[in-house]
Amino acid sequence: MSLLRLFKRGYQDVLNILYPRLCINCGRVLYPHEDLLCHHCLSSMTLTNFNPSDNPLYNRLAAIVPLQYATALFLFDQHGAVQNLIHRLKYQGRQDVGKLMADFTKNYFDEKSFHPAFDYIIPVPLHPEKQKKRGYNQMTVFGENLGNYFGVIYGENILLRYINTSSQTKKTAAQRRQNVAGAFVIPNPEKYSGKHFLIIDDVITTGATIEACAETIIKQVPDAKVSVLAMAVVL
Ligand SMILES: [Zn+2]
Repeated sequence: MSLLRLFKRGYQDVLNILYPRLCINCGRVLYPHEDLLCHHCLSSMTLTNFNPSDNPLYNRLAAIVPLQYATALFLFDQHGAVQNLIHRLKYQGRQDVGKLMADFTKNYFDEKSFHPAFDYIIPVPLHPEKQKKRGYNQMTVFGENLGNYFGVIYGENILLRYINTSSQTKKTAAQRRQNVAGAFVIPNPEKYSGKHFLIIDDVITTGATIEACAETIIKQVPDAKVSVLAMAVVL
């Protein structure tokens, strides 16, 4: 080992002692090969392992709006590691969770030999006021990393939200659908004729918001294709 590498390794060891990397879920000190999550917390998370065009999420959403694919990485676990990861991403600025989720997505797509030719990856847009308050869109790092992996453009200004809808959490499915209908717009739909959009979101519960996004795209760009990917799904 070269002197420089030895020095670098020693420096890293000192850093790890002074500022140990901790599991984002349980707080245990991470081993060098672990990334954000310890082995125990990682193994507590349930991958859906969904077939992207035939699964409960796809069947639920595609009954309402025509979709090519719809899938999610993990089953949502109330009070579990998946919920905690997404909470830290959304409310504590932990965008490194987005990178980790993009890594999971790449592995999942590779394992399924699933390599569709998306043209654009777009997030469920936040209303500008909400984004300003939060300081970021929690999908940015996730979307940018997915874009890099798949050689696809990640665009946050293709689909916009122009109505700041009230919180969805205490509403029924019908109320949620009503609440977000007509909240979205594509400012230049003629640019996207025939393109395939992958809409990404953190957690899909009823799916009302993502349905409204997909409906907007198909209404404004009738020959577009739409697919959906979420970090987690509530079944
Ligand atoms: Zn842990």
